[in-house]
Amino acid sequence: MNKYIMVIDDSPTIRISVEFALKDLGYKIQHAENGMDALEKVKALVNRKEDIALCICDINMPEMDGIDFIKKFREIDRFTPVIVLTTESDDERILEGKEAGASGWIIKPFQPADLIKVVKRFLR
Ligand SMILES: [Mg+2]
Repeated sequence: MNKYIMVIDDSPTIRISVEFALKDLGYKIQHAENGMDALEKVKALVNRKEDIALCICDINMPEMDGIDFIKKFREIDRFTPVIVLTTESDDERILEGKEAGASGWIIKPFQPADLIKVVKRFLR
């Protein structure tokens, strides 16, 4: 069984930089380009009995945004941490994310070391 980190962002550049930052942690990285794409990929991983250790999720994305993704993901999986990685620093938006089930919040642009620190805190 592999352990996966989902990296959900409409920017390929962000996804690649997150993957690069986390490369030494020993997890498989599953990219998704919006919330809809991520849900399909989550369901495919669950069907294959793969273990999702963590999600890193953008907020502003086409098709399905991060808030809606988190709500839908929480219907499938109540406990896997979801770290939001976003330019959104608005308190109301952060509260909305927390209420949807987000575990942590990192504001872009991010420093790789800060991302690793937060990710490690949530991985058991
Ligand atoms: Mg975006």
